[in-house]
Amino acid sequence: MMMPSRSHFARTLLMGFALLPALISGAHAEANLDAVIQDLVAANRILYRQGVVDGFGHVSVRHPANAERYLMSASLAPGRVTKEDIMEFDLDSRPIDQRGRSIYSERFIHSEIYKARPDVQAILHSHSPTVIPFGASNVPLKPIVNTAGFLSPEVPVFEMRRVAGSRSLLVTDAKLGKALADVLGNRTVALMRGHGNVVVGPNIRRMVSRAIYTEVNARLQLQALALGSQIIYLDETEARAGEENRDKSERGHSIDRTWQMWVEEAMGPGSADR
Ligand SMILES: [Zn+2]
Repeated sequence: MMMPSRSHFARTLLMGFALLPALISGAHAEANLDAVIQDLVAANRILYRQGVVDGFGHVSVRHPANAERYLMSASLAPGRVTKEDIMEFDLDSRPIDQRGRSIYSERFIHSEIYKARPDVQAILHSHSPTVIPFGASNVPLKPIVNTAGFLSPEVPVFEMRRVAGSRSLLVTDAKLGKALADVLGNRTVALMRGHGNVVVGPNIRRMVSRAIYTEVNARLQLQALALGSQIIYLDETEARAGEENRDKSERGHSIDRTWQMWVEEAMGPGSADR
């Protein structure tokens, strides 16, 4: 048997070291994907527990290693989603590995917004009940509470009749998805008349927080409107200041604090990272 020469041994060792960063970054990417999927499952459960979605609605996140793909559950009530249900889609909303699973008919909402908004990493489409009156009337949804500054400067309304006439209100193809993405523009929330809304964010946690406080703000605004007096909304400076604080969110404050609480509520005691 030939013994490996000393130079061969050194070469092998060097190659091993050269491959090490790739191996570490591969393991890191996998761990990151796992963490993102865990947050995505939690987001589905949380939004159901918080009354933002019911049996309908869907949550997605851009793939952390491939900006041309996104992750979303197979067609299932959000309150029942597990990590085994999470599927990968391309930006034409074609499933990468369908394996006979049923998929959401309104998935084009997600792909068209990801195409139009490179800054967006997470999206919710919901039938959030309290926003419906604001999409169906000429009363605009405006920030009335400190936790909803992201509703500033305005919340546009998507009107299906303007795009495709009187028909089903579901966004079931890329053309309708693009029309909705156009109405959303660079804002964080768009209402969909007679249907619900879309909420976007730079990550899952911010998007979930925005979705919950959109529903809370709508409820408070309806109560304020019922008082029948003049309403003082947050001005743009106040709204921006609240959002900047959330951008600086540290462990145990702001989004992090509420996220840990929502995860424990939705996923059971001990499920939040500490
Ligand atoms: Zn819908």
